[in-house]
Amino acid sequence: MPSPKSLVALLLLALAAPVAAGSPAAPTPSEAIREAVLSSMDRTVDPCDDFYRYACGGWLDKTELPADQARWTRSFSTIAERNRELVRELLESAAADPGPAGGERQQIGDFFAACMNEAAVEKAGTTPLAGPFERIAAIADARDLMAVAGALGRDGVNALLGAGRVPDFKNPGVYLFYLSQGGLGLPDRDYYLSEDPRKRELLGQYREHVTRMLTLAGSPAAAAEAEAIVAFETGLAKASRPRSEMRDRDRLYNKLDRDGLVKLTPGLPWAAFFEGAGHPEIVSINVAVPEFFSGLEQLVAATPIETLRAYLRWHVVRERAELLPAAFVDADFAFYGRALSGQAEIQPRWKRCVDQTGRALGEAIGKLWVEREFAGNSKQVAIEMIEDIEKAFEANLPNLAWMDDATRARAVEKARKVSNKIGYPDVWRDYSALAISRGDFFANVTAADRFEADRQLAQIGRPVDRNEWLMTPHTVNAYYMSTANEIAFPAGILQPPFFHRDHPAAMNYGAIGAVMGHELTHGFDDQGRKSDGDGVLREWWEPEVAAKFEAAAACVERQFSAFEVEPGVKVDGKLTLGENIADLGGLKQAFSAYQSWKERHGAPPPFAEGLTHDQLLFVSFAQVWCTEASPEFLRRQVVTDSHSPGSFRAVGAAMNLPAFRQAFSCEEGDRMVAAPTCTVW
Ligand SMILES: [Zn+2]
Repeated sequence: MPSPKSLVALLLLALAAPVAAGSPAAPTPSEAIREAVLSSMDRTVDPCDDFYRYACGGWLDKTELPADQARWTRSFSTIAERNRELVRELLESAAADPGPAGGERQQIGDFFAACMNEAAVEKAGTTPLAGPFERIAAIADARDLMAVAGALGRDGVNALLGAGRVPDFKNPGVYLFYLSQGGLGLPDRDYYLSEDPRKRELLGQYREHVTRMLTLAGSPAAAAEAEAIVAFETGLAKASRPRSEMRDRDRLYNKLDRDGLVKLTPGLPWAAFFEGAGHPEIVSINVAVPEFFSGLEQLVAATPIETLRAYLRWHVVRERAELLPAAFVDADFAFYGRALSGQAEIQPRWKRCVDQTGRALGEAIGKLWVEREFAGNSKQVAIEMIEDIEKAFEANLPNLAWMDDATRARAVEKARKVSNKIGYPDVWRDYSALAISRGDFFANVTAADRFEADRQLAQIGRPVDRNEWLMTPHTVNAYYMSTANEIAFPAGILQPPFFHRDHPAAMNYGAIGAVMGHELTHGFDDQGRKSDGDGVLREWWEPEVAAKFEAAAACVERQFSAFEVEPGVKVDGKLTLGENIADLGGLKQAFSAYQSWKERHGAPPPFAEGLTHDQLLFVSFAQVWCTEASPEFLRRQVVTDSHSPGSFRAVGAAMNLPAFRQAFSCEEGDRMVAAPTCTVW
């Protein structure tokens, strides 16, 4: 937990207002907290009409989207930026005083220092591309192609397909090799296939971008290659499932062995692929999208070998652009940052180097970060809150009209089996076998990618590591993992404005409490509900109850599908369904958990004139989602992100909650009273 001093610093940051010269005294913590909440609001607005403006208007008026961001939120971004600065200090200190060779200080210090050494990167020029380019140039047939794709994937360059490691959905104690669709340079198939004029324009810009990058990498025929690459990727896009369908876990489960894989696609030499990936022993496989691989097989057969070589070279350059000289970095940013995401300026190099080091050695940084930032008693408070939320979830089950007794009993059983991870891992990742030098940034990233790929691939067919975290401790986020029936809250999110011991309870419940409820509800959203309490994908619902659940979920889908980020650009209610169900459940549980807290502790002293604690809870929830974003970012988000944009998350759940109506005396017909009202959990 941060010291009170850093709390005040953060609150001032959140206020984003200059402190008046000669101000008499620093505010007390409770004054600073109140000021941070109230100054972010616009209380001239009717909360029943525009609750987003009511909760966030003050913040929106005084906050500009920082030039080096495409989106900026009051909660996540503020904490993440502060974390970055802290991590920078840790890394600079490690770089100045690295300690023994091979130790973690040496690793993170040298990794960061090598990244910061722009002169060395410029001097190396395109030399680091020579190795992979030579391998690609030697490709003569499909066997070579698959071998090189496997080798590139191991070194962090994903091409042709998507691959990874997941627990077996139906036997979640064991890892499978996961093969999925992939191989695109644009963020979604939609960018290749849509008739929308804006997307057509971006596709044209993408073709120019590929040309520019291949030219920089030394290709004499880049324009023609780019043309052929875009055509090839369009073929991959056509073979790919729409993103919203990629959420359907039943359809993603297709377990095969190596013979089955060869039978599915006899034209793709898989033995060469696994050989190239350095793990020929892998036999336990899940092919998430079989039809994609049939499409890939046909495409590979129909595409000239020189196009396939150019395609692979492009993906090496694309994936490694940040590790190359400024000409590559700037061109990469101009397309992916500016054109595609609406970010005005590239982030300063130190920020990018903090992120690169975090990707390579996240837990080594996290360990130091936790020592410095996370007080042990935060964990206890968080556990108590989670238990409250879980009780609220269970207590609400009898009120659900669509539920029957048999399914309810099984839901209770599943909820009681949810395990919690809080703060940071019990056992830290061992990086000792990873060699990092101060001299070669490109080689460091490749080594770290290979180290991580080998770690994961060596686990295929073996028992799942229940200790593993999917996020580093300083990450400002949380997750539910269905195969483990587990919720996890990294130390990074247990900070203001989500959580602080000095916050009124209503604020903590509205912010981190709703996040906890959100993650818990994921276990019961339209996909999470398909696994049982042990994380096994199997049907445990009575059929009539499942049908009623689907109907309740369809209400949420329709409601969110009507939200527009700009005229004609709508939220995808199907893609965001799981997240929206989780938001509705999370806020509801947070509110009722807070009511039990009040029963135990008594009513707290007034927070502010004209703002009850029940109201404060909803304001605190919405203020998590105060968001500035570029139009390009929002257009991209509705295509690629399973989360609704912040302005809708701030209000979508509350619109459906009777408790919200009561707290603000809203009436039917008000914009903040959804008609019909959706209730899932
Ligand atoms: Zn979620």
